[in-house]
Amino acid sequence: MSTESITPVSTATPRPSEPRTRHHQIVVVGGGSGGATVAARLCRKLRNPDLAVIEPSETHDYQPLWTLVGGGVVPKERSRHFEIDVLPRKATWIKDRVTRFEPADNRVVLGDGSRVSYDYLIVAIGLKLNWEAIKGLSVDQIGKDGICSNYLYDGCEGTWRTLQEFNGGTALFTNPKPPIKCAGAPQKIMYLADDHFRRRGIRQRSKVMYVSGTPGIFSVKEFAKTLNEVIARRGIETLYKHNLVEIDPAARRAVFENLDNGERTEIEYAMIHITPPQGPPDVVKESPLADEAGWVKVDKHTLQHPDFPNVFSLGDVSSLPTSKTGAAVRKEAPVLVHNLLATMNNRPRSEFARYDGYASCPLVTGYGKLVLAEFDYDLKPKPSFPFDTTKERRSMYLLKRYGLPALYWHGMVKGRA
Ligand code: FAD
Repeated sequence: MSTESITPVSTATPRPSEPRTRHHQIVVVGGGSGGATVAARLCRKLRNPDLAVIEPSETHDYQPLWTLVGGGVVPKERSRHFEIDVLPRKATWIKDRVTRFEPADNRVVLGDGSRVSYDYLIVAIGLKLNWEAIKGLSVDQIGKDGICSNYLYDGCEGTWRTLQEFNGGTALFTNPKPPIKCAGAPQKIMYLADDHFRRRGIRQRSKVMYVSGTPGIFSVKEFAKTLNEVIARRGIETLYKHNLVEIDPAARRAVFENLDNGERTEIEYAMIHITPPQGPPDVVKESPLADEAGWVKVDKHTLQHPDFPNVFSLGDVSSLPTSKTGAAVRKEAPVLVHNLLATMNNRPRSEFARYDGYASCPLVTGYGKLVLAEFDYDLKPKPSFPFDTTKERRSMYLLKRYGLPALYWHGMVKGRA
């Protein structure tokens, strides 16, 4: 950990001299992928930024690596850095969480009851994992009794343990009805598992099954075609439009609901990889910032709130109708920063930058194989490379394994890429 990093301001135990309300020109709520990236970009652009990041966690995770942790390729520690080393040094870090948004008064309330007022607000607090929506499941069961999930830092190594302990029977991989972060993650781990079972010679006595709340394997038809070929080649069974609603860990039985007619189907498993249902955080859902679905309401091209023009949002918590990915965040961030600076300088909206919905999902289809799905709001492929990215490629797997993590830590969250 760097010793010259910024000092976190802990509000958990405020000193008597600390004011109960403080003000910053720009307040960024959330120091994850989106918050850290816009904070870094703004600190590079502004001469003397008065910018605070409100983030409760001491650590910052590069979640895309959790797929490879679950597949036994990298240890989980590779996905985690100290927050203090990620946030820009010119920013003030307020180490607390926002418990209420009060946009009519241009302020937020923190966990300790104090307030932070702002001229401009950026909301980037990610989404909420709704584990409790699955009856019979508690988070502490993950990693035990054949249950695993890559959707937790402390869970993804348990996925690798579960794959190693699996000795035949049914291996279930679930995907809830969208939206979720990284629509491809629930199936990527399945392809790695299938490869692993083949290497161990136990595939003949196993059934690998993908049960998904979506109507098909992927929303962009060019990539769905390749993925359906992968599924057929691997002999994976699929069941679509079915959501996991209940689990009996002792009996190793999962209950799925048919999204068309509500009928229930029980499936016994030897192991199950669960992707939990996901939705907006309560603090946003209950705030004036929310749209009808509970996400931070923003214009899908400018990332500006339509009712509170000094509020912007990006990433998983925003209402942007794109695939919720870090790759999308990388393209949203420069647009947001451009439009925020334009707003601060009273520039007309005609000078605003526009986000086209770019998102990318590096679909790992086995050890050493990957389909790089890049697309926009219209679900049209938007390849960054001059070759056919709908094909499985080793070069793209190496990009995910080595290139993208480096781009993230040294480029994106530093405001350079
Ligand atoms: P986050 O990065 O989750 O950050 C939110 C931050 O807000 C956190 O630091 C949190 O502590 C903080 N916070 C929460 N509540 C509050 C509060 N009340 N007050 C203040 N702060 C708060 N994306 C890809 O591009 N490619 C991939 O291959 C990929 N694979 C993935 C695989 C898995 C298993 C998972 C889980 C995700 C994957 N993603 C992938 C998705 C990607 O990680 C997210 O889309 C991205 O991190 C979203 O950034 P964000 O800033 O919106 O949210």
